Amino acid sequence: MTFETFGLCEELLRAVGEQGYDTPTPVQAQAIPIVLQGKDIMAGAQTGTGKTAGFTLPMLHRLHQGKADHGRRPIRALILTPTRELAAQIGESVTTYGKYLPLSSTVIFGGVGIKPQITRLRRGVDILVATPGRLLDLVNQKVVDLSHVEILVLDEADRMLDMGFIHDIRKVLALLPRQRQNLLFSATFSADIKRLASGILHHPVLVEVARNEASGQVNHVVHPVGKSSKRALLSHLISSNDWKQVLVFTRTKHGANRLTEQLGKDDILAAAIHGNKSQTARTKALAGFKEGNIRVLVATDIAARGLDIDQLPHVVNYELPNVPEDYVHRIGRTGRAGRTGEAMSLVSQDEVKLLRGIEKLLGKKIPVITIEGFAAVLDDNAPEERRPSTARTPQRRRPQQGGGGGRPSSNQEGRSRSRRPTR
Ligand code: AMP
Repeated sequence: MTFETFGLCEELLRAVGEQGYDTPTPVQAQAIPIVLQGKDIMAGAQTGTGKTAGFTLPMLHRLHQGKADHGRRPIRALILTPTRELAAQIGESVTTYGKYLPLSSTVIFGGVGIKPQITRLRRGVDILVATPGRLLDLVNQKVVDLSHVEILVLDEADRMLDMGFIHDIRKVLALLPRQRQNLLFSATFSADIKRLASGILHHPVLVEVARNEASGQVNHVVHPVGKSSKRALLSHLISSNDWKQVLVFTRTKHGANRLTEQLGKDDILAAAIHGNKSQTARTKALAGFKEGNIRVLVATDIAARGLDIDQLPHVVNYELPNVPEDYVHRIGRTGRAGRTGEAMSLVSQDEVKLLRGIEKLLGKKIPVITIEGFAAVLDDNAPEERRPSTARTPQRRRPQQGGGGGRPSSNQEGRSRSRRPTR
């Protein structure tokens, strides 16, 4: 299959061709024809699957085809995203794919000055990419009129709910015309997402990229390690494998800062990206990482959401996430669009239950490989407070049978989001 098959307009095919894409990804192959027909979709796709082009290309095509009879330039498509980074990246994609079309777009998000955004909006845009909070600010200032929106995209809807945007989303929905096309993307489908979707979507077509299609290019591995040896193991992995670029996840902002400092002491250039950092600092860290000046980007889950970093071969879970779904989001940063990636988790005894929860969600055991000098045993039957036991004899990278054994713990059931620490 090629992009020509979809019947996209010439201007879009030219822009896609310039990106060097010749084959649509599975989510694009499924979503593009449906969106072109004007139908609503509910798509299960995470970052890295090519979902952005999956909704942007048919959206641009429809906007271009559709005659806008309005005297001035109203907003015809609204894309809502949970984070600033994701908004910026989608904005870039809209610009890239739409470069030969007479459609204009802009991106608005908080944390930066509002005035340039007001100036831009007053000039009129066809496509608006926005985070919910800043969008409502601008609506309240009467700078944004959403009454002519033809297409609504909710990207990473699960994350928007996780971040507490539900009320903002409902306020935005109330400002949109009833007659419109709705595209909802979410990496996971909780009961909350299904409830939100049922209130928004009209006879949606379900687009689902099988989990192994989305993450099939990713090799997962667990390295058991004593908690206090994690930092040394990470430095060892980076140096001994000579990794040029690695994205490392921590659970907390404080943990991200501390790890960044510690890596610096090991002469490994690292930068942290999390919610307490200013937008300028986050943009700078991301740019430094993309340019290859920063070797390790240490991120919390929310900050890393939707980061589009090309060809990232290694993702390390320095700490496992509290919510198993976050693991899926994290590894979405590697093995992107047909490339192979490696997702490594440094797991200490206190995280065994989290590991089993993740394996349950993935529907498979993650292979366990011990690293010489850092080996530890993960014991499913150990009491909660027991510290990890460090093996005396160093072992070479030797697979343990069955991922350490043991069934997924029933304690993982119904893990509540409210237990998520502040990040
Ligand atoms: P996304 O899931 O939208 O964040 O896209 C992930 C990455 O895949 C981006 O860097 C895109 O540039 C790239 N990409 C999107 N579509 C294709 C395609 N058909 N072929 C190759 N790469 C693609």
